Amino acid sequence: MKNKYDKTLIWFKIITIFPEMFRAITDYGVIGKAIKKNIINIDFLNPRNFTNNKYRSIDDRPYGGGPGMLMSVEPLYLSIQHAKSTLKDAFVIYLSPQGKQLEQNCIQKLIDKKKIILICGRYEGIDQRIIDSQVNEEWSIGNYILTGGELAAMIMIDSISRLIPGVIKKKQSLEQDSFSNNLLDYPNYTRPRIIYNMSVPKILLSGNHDKIRLWRLKQSLGNTWIKRPDLLKKNFLTKEETILLNEFKKKHK
Ligand code: SAM
Repeated sequence: MKNKYDKTLIWFKIITIFPEMFRAITDYGVIGKAIKKNIINIDFLNPRNFTNNKYRSIDDRPYGGGPGMLMSVEPLYLSIQHAKSTLKDAFVIYLSPQGKQLEQNCIQKLIDKKKIILICGRYEGIDQRIIDSQVNEEWSIGNYILTGGELAAMIMIDSISRLIPGVIKKKQSLEQDSFSNNLLDYPNYTRPRIIYNMSVPKILLSGNHDKIRLWRLKQSLGNTWIKRPDLLKKNFLTKEETILLNEFKKKHK
């Protein structure tokens, strides 16, 4: 018999005290649509529902003193156990500024996990014993400190989800995105042809697909050379790409 999850390609269980924040991704855009179609499954567990004190408190003071509070072990531990029991063999990620930095070339490896539990910290973070006993990997979205892991989890889910087959219809638009092949995207234009005295490069109106491809590749190489030369260093350029980049450099010296 057909099950509504037969089409599901990736599962997320999110452990958060603020599940409502995730409406920003679950209720909008292509990801919202993919969730409705059951291509992506997102579910939430609130550690407050796993507390055994009358105030439903999920934080406590750190041993040894110091500012701020930490998320306590028990509500987090019980939430994770519950998530694991409903999502067998899930990969557990703690969103943390101390983790590996999320980059486009890591996304496929995360997709391959298929079942992911995301722990969103709050306050000064979570008790180390949860990290030591329950977490497979820590992931960061950048070298700055957020007030909680929710925004980081949403960024991770968004960047993973758009590469799931069926979420973005045109595969080609993913291939031309910045960072695919370690190159930035080329400049894009839409109608009208001329607006406020600014016009679209003539080549894009020529209908000559080969010339347009070469122009775009040259702009993409040039854009990367100007804005992110570090990416070019990671790239092995073909003969065609080297010629195009040299032409671009000559013109923009
Ligand atoms: N004291 C912690 C530290 O220095 O590692 C930071 C705690 S931060 C105020 C609260 C929570 O926000 C963290 O537990 C983590 O889940 C999340 N967070 C903060 N910055 C993050 C980042 N750059 N990437 C991912 N998660 C982050």
